[in-house]
Amino acid sequence: MAHDYDSTNIFARILRGEIPNKTVMETDHTLAFHDIKPAAPVHVLVIPKGPYVTFDHFAAAASAEEITDFHRTAAAVCALVGVAPGEGYRAITNAGAHGMQEVPHYHLHILGGRVLGRLIERA
Ligand code: 5GP
Repeated sequence: MAHDYDSTNIFARILRGEIPNKTVMETDHTLAFHDIKPAAPVHVLVIPKGPYVTFDHFAAAASAEEITDFHRTAAAVCALVGVAPGEGYRAITNAGAHGMQEVPHYHLHILGGRVLGRLIERA
């Protein structure tokens, strides 16, 4: 998969302050905010501020500082929203067509607040 970043995507616009968001946490490299259409009582999106399209793009191309900051922020979000320690959560990321990724800026979904069911439907 090519990693051409489309800077008109909705999360790029959120990062530029063109669209409001309900921020949970922000650091130099990472932003966490509530999903606009929550799929569970807790549904937070954690995104790097850098122009990365997917998980594999971010993991391969981001700096160690960005990668550390992203994961530390995700951990802090889990604590802040009360899912860890707690009843648990699911952290998932979609990539590309088969992953049914809607927004082409890497994001980790943190879902919780109810039993979430199986990971995916079996084909
Ligand atoms: P994907 O399908 O790419 O993994 O997930 C994209 C997520 O972004 C969806 O859960 C969707 O509800 C969320 N989303 C799309 N547009 C906006 C927006 O403008 N603001 C926020 N907070 N979430 C959005």
